[in-house]
Amino acid sequence: YFNMVEDMKKIRVFCRIRPMSEAETSCGSIPVVDCLDDYSVTVETSRGLKEFQFDRVFNPTSSQEDVFQDISLIQSAIDGYNVCIFAYGQTGSGKTFTMVGDKDLKNPGIMPRTFRTIFHITQENSSKFDFKVSMCMLELYNERLLDLFVSPVDALGKRIEIKKDRKGLVIAHGAETKDAASAEELLALFEQGCCNRHIAATMNMESSRSHLIVGITMESRNHTNGCVSYGKLSLVDLAGSERVAKTGAKDEQLKEANSINKSLSALGDVIFALSTEQVYVPYRNNKLTQFMQDSLGGNAKTLMFVNISPASCNTEETLTYATRVK
Ligand code: ADP
Ligand code: MG
Repeated sequence: YFNMVEDMKKIRVFCRIRPMSEAETSCGSIPVVDCLDDYSVTVETSRGLKEFQFDRVFNPTSSQEDVFQDISLIQSAIDGYNVCIFAYGQTGSGKTFTMVGDKDLKNPGIMPRTFRTIFHITQENSSKFDFKVSMCMLELYNERLLDLFVSPVDALGKRIEIKKDRKGLVIAHGAETKDAASAEELLALFEQGCCNRHIAATMNMESSRSHLIVGITMESRNHTNGCVSYGKLSLVDLAGSERVAKTGAKDEQLKEANSINKSLSALGDVIFALSTEQVYVPYRNNKLTQFMQDSLGGNAKTLMFVNISPASCNTEETLTYATRVK
């Protein structure tokens, strides 16, 4: 489906297999997913063994640290590239665990680790460059972009438009952008955004059914020649909608599910167009792809995780998500 451009590797796809959950084990499911080596995954099906290739595979024992160590893209964003990292997969497959971490961040995922790495790199290079790091944080819910740096009530009254700024970067016009001078400040901003997201969830906007978008802009000015470069890092925790579809949904839930499906398939269409090198890339079909426009394709570097469950009860979904990338 997404036939990757092997030589350029502008889009890299990593697969992460999560451990069996208690619910899966107790309902009699057995593990059917195995990784042969660091690059291939097999799934046992009723029609035999199916094999899938990835740029990297993480098995159920891989830690959050192992996964993050393999990401070299933070440096690229500081170097002036637009970088996008997101996770794709069925509900419950580990997307949020990978991108954000578990509850109360005892086991932090890519986002909090990225905050530390950004300032680790900028501090190491501070004798040659001045850096300015800023962040915006949005939630995409039912085709609406909501600013997570203001209260949920205020966010509902704000109109956020996706535009290009003077530097050619895609920005969420109308959303707050906050500067951060340390990893702790970035983390505090992130936690503030998560807190607003929880409040929004109590107002009937279930956070698992909205996409979380964290945009970090990095400006670096070379001390000697005054040259300035801009990089943008987009970290996205996508929602999933299968659970809603499986259980039979009420009106409001159906609207949410349709909206999530629209964003996911718009993203799928963009990745497909890019990987097959088509001239027309349908970015504008959806707010999610509009926001990610300058971070997918062109000179951007994209890392997509395919998260999968190892359990036999999820084989069908696992095959669907694993197949889409090759
Ligand atoms: P998704 O965001 O794809 O719906 P979650 O990230 O919420 O899925 O994961 C579902 C559950 O599985 C959560 O309780 C999460 O903590 C757990 N989980 C996911 N991946 C892992 C992992 N690699 N190791 C341990 N627990 C995991
Ligand atoms: Mg999730």
